[in-house]
Amino acid sequence: MIKTISFFFGSGEITSFADNTCHLINTFANCYVIETSDGLILFDIGQELFGPIIFEKLRQITEKPIKYIIYSHGHFDHCFGFQPIMNEIETKGQKKPQIIAHENLIRRFQKYEHLASYHKWLNKQQFASVIGDDYKGPSTQNVLNPTIIVTNNEYTFRLGKDTFHLYHGWGETDDALWLWFPAKKVLLTGDFILSSYPNVGNPFKVQRYPKEWAETLELMLKKKPHFLGPGHGDLITGEDAIHEVLEGTAQALHFVHDEVIKRLNEGKWFEQLYYEMLEIYPEAWKTKDYLQPLYGCYPFAIHAVYRLYHGWYDSGNPTTLFPAKRTEIAQEFLKIAEPQDFISHCRRLYEAGELQLALHIIDPVIEGLTDRSPQLTEAKILKQEILEKKAEETSSFIAANIYRNGIQQLRED
Ligand SMILES: [Zn+2]
Repeated sequence: MIKTISFFFGSGEITSFADNTCHLINTFANCYVIETSDGLILFDIGQELFGPIIFEKLRQITEKPIKYIIYSHGHFDHCFGFQPIMNEIETKGQKKPQIIAHENLIRRFQKYEHLASYHKWLNKQQFASVIGDDYKGPSTQNVLNPTIIVTNNEYTFRLGKDTFHLYHGWGETDDALWLWFPAKKVLLTGDFILSSYPNVGNPFKVQRYPKEWAETLELMLKKKPHFLGPGHGDLITGEDAIHEVLEGTAQALHFVHDEVIKRLNEGKWFEQLYYEMLEIYPEAWKTKDYLQPLYGCYPFAIHAVYRLYHGWYDSGNPTTLFPAKRTEIAQEFLKIAEPQDFISHCRRLYEAGELQLALHIIDPVIEGLTDRSPQLTEAKILKQEILEKKAEETSSFIAANIYRNGIQQLRED
C-alpha cells in the first residue's frame, strides 16, 4: 500500500534534465517545463488541488513567461491546475499562452460538464477510501479551454530556436497527445507511460484502447529517445532503459489484446477466457518495474479487451439475462439453509485462505437478512475482515480502494 500511495502523492520535487532545458515537477501527475530562449512550454499542469504547488515550483526554476501549455489528455490530474498561472498573467498584464490540445479533448470537457455530479461521485468511488473520508473528489468544472486544437495526428510548432512535435494516439484516452523534442531527444508520453501496468481496464471508467496504445508506444520507440518523461512516476534516462520500457509495455498490451481475441475466436465466454488468461501471464513480467500493477492491473485489462469487442451479456448463462434482485435471490438461499450455516462455512473458507469464495458465501446473509439480527452483524464484521485482507493482498490502488469502499459501506449500513 505504501508504494501505491507514494505513487499518487509525488513529493513535488524538481528533476532537471536534457542540459537543464527540461524540468519535471512531480506531484500527483507529472508537469514538465521546457525552457527556450523565447519562453516556456508546459506539458501538463496537474490537478486543481496541486496547481499552487506546481506554480510555486515552476517559479523556483525560472521567471520566464509561459508561451505554450500542452494537455497530454483531458483527465482531471493533468490540465486543471491553471489558476495560479492565469492569476500571474493577469497581475503582470502578460499575453495569455497558447493552449494546445487534441480535438477530442473538447468533447471530453463537454462530457465533464454534462455529467458533473456523476463524475464527482465516480472519482470519489475511485479514490476516496485511500485518500481520506473528507475527500470530495476532483474538480473538472473550471476549465481552461484550448486555443490551438489539433485535428490531425500531428502538430509541429517552433519556439525560440527549437522545434517541437506533437503526435496524437489512442491509449488510456482518445484525446492523447505526446511530445517529441528532437534537439534534446526528449519524449514526454503523458499517460501512455504510467511507470506501472497500463491503466487499460479501469473498472469505473469508459473504454480504453490497448492495441492502439501498443502501436503508439512503438512509434515512440522509433524516435530513439534519451529521456522519457512519463505521465506519472520518475524520469527514465538512457536509450536502452527507455527502449525496454516502451517495448516491454507495448508487448504487454499486444499480449492481453491478442490473447483475448484468440479466445473470442475460439467461442469462449468471459469466465473461461478470463481464467485461462490469468494462467498464461508470462512469469518474467511479474518482476518488471514498469509492469507492476500499482494502479491498473492485468485482470482489469482482460475485461477492457473483452468489452471492446463484446456486448454486456458475457456469461453464456441465460439466468443472467434478466436477473432477479440480489436481495430476493439471497432470501431464497436463506430458506434452504440457515444464516449461521453460511457464516460458519464462510469462516472455514476464510481460514483456509479462500478469500474470494468466502465473499461469495457470506453475501447471501448480508443481502438476504433485512432485520438487525446478531447474525447480520456477525456476517458484516466477517466480510469486513475478508475485504481488509483482500485489500492488503492487492497492489492495485483501484482494487484496494474498491475493497476499502466496501468496508466503509458495511460500517455505515
Ligand atoms: Zn494521469
